[in-house]
Amino acid sequence: MSAPQAPPAADSLTPVQRELQDRARGFVDEILIPLEEQAERAGGGLPDADVALIRREALARRLHGGLHSAEHGGNGWTHVEWFLVEEQFGRSTNALSWYVPTAYNVLAHGSDEQIERYLKPGLRGETHDAYAVTEELAGSDPSGIATTATKTDAGWRIDGEKWFVTYGDVAAVYIVMANARVDGASLPTLFLIDRDTPGISVVDDPPFTHNYPHGHPTLRFSGVEVGDEAIIGGLGGGDDLQRAWFAEERLGIAARCSGAMWRLLEETTAWAIEREQGGGRIIDHQGVSFPLADSAADAAAGRLLGLEVARLADSDADVKLVHAKASMAKLFCSEAANRCADRCLQIFGGRGYTRVNVAERFWRELRVDRIWEGTSEVQRIIIARSLERRGVEPVLHS
Ligand SMILES: Cc1cc2nc3c(=O)[nH]c(=O)nc-3n(C[C@H](O)[C@H](O)[C@H](O)COP(=O)(O)OP(=O)(O)OC[C@H]3O[C@@H](n4cnc5c(N)ncnc54)[C@H](O)[C@@H]3O)c2cc1C
Repeated sequence: MSAPQAPPAADSLTPVQRELQDRARGFVDEILIPLEEQAERAGGGLPDADVALIRREALARRLHGGLHSAEHGGNGWTHVEWFLVEEQFGRSTNALSWYVPTAYNVLAHGSDEQIERYLKPGLRGETHDAYAVTEELAGSDPSGIATTATKTDAGWRIDGEKWFVTYGDVAAVYIVMANARVDGASLPTLFLIDRDTPGISVVDDPPFTHNYPHGHPTLRFSGVEVGDEAIIGGLGGGDDLQRAWFAEERLGIAARCSGAMWRLLEETTAWAIEREQGGGRIIDHQGVSFPLADSAADAAAGRLLGLEVARLADSDADVKLVHAKASMAKLFCSEAANRCADRCLQIFGGRGYTRVNVAERFWRELRVDRIWEGTSEVQRIIIARSLERRGVEPVLHS
């Protein structure tokens, strides 16, 4: 009788996907993780030489470009392939993967000129872009934004203030959501505004909980003049592009949180096996092993859900269903990763409370994943609406 065959891995990766995963994992282990402590001690930044190293290695190993097409300078990955790469990026702290050349997905909807000017340099690692939607009085409900675009003879005049603009301190271009006033109507529209355009000022640049490479400043746009060619996605097309942006970003958060849980488990399990107190290994106490077990269950469940959503996004499924399921993956993985980080920090004891400890860094850094790209409460609203409108079975089993 022949020996029983090992069952295929539950995540059923193809050889191509497995190779990509291994390549991304090698990059994170060899390049990013060794720089984490240095970045943390420096408050988030790295010397130019290290930044150049990350960019060079990411490009050489073809790990840049997110979901962007090869034609535009990306790698043309499927959502599953992209998930696998983002998951590995999520195994590192201090957002060091932010140095990997990429650009927001809306830029792929630009005109040929916008693609040449903003998208391609971003994917070569020469520039950054920043996405500015949130305002003081419009956060969870972005339909309440007050930024306006008023028609002028030469194009548009933008007035408003945007909060929490990630990359706002380094971006070459801001993707700004504004209400274009046309014939008494107010049309949500995205504008590409060069950072050095007169009328843009930094109102505030507060410190945040994490130590990341770039800030999230508050930007004021006062009488900023742009031409018609600054519009991306058409007049009034802002909401559609934004929905696609949110769905992608939410799945990306699910992937990175899955990676964070993976790394937390790797490091904390090794520590719990090695560490002895009272004459025995701490993993032999259920007070230590059970939180590890709960974390493993969280990590495995979140990862399968995330991969399922990625596969759905690669199919011709209803985009609204993909949005709802991306919300579900974001909600579960971000909440689960926060639970895991807290448990792992506890298992490291006093060492877990130092910033040189990976669990401590994740414990701080993962907190924002329950807030940005829509809070956990907002994700619950989206999921509940989808249950009502699309039905329980499609939401659960698609
Ligand atoms: C570090 C960081 C980076 C960010 N980067 C960007 C960026 O690059 N671009 C950008 O545009 N924005 C960015 N944001 C903004 C982020 O998306 C918002 O903070 C988030 O959407 C929440 O909005 P808010 O902070 O105004 O909170 P609020 O909307 O004021 O919410 C406050 C609380 O009320 C709850 N709440 C609100 N409405 C409801 C409801 N209907 N039901 C139940 N609970 C509700 C929320 O869940 C939350 O707990 C960033 C934020 C942070 C912290």
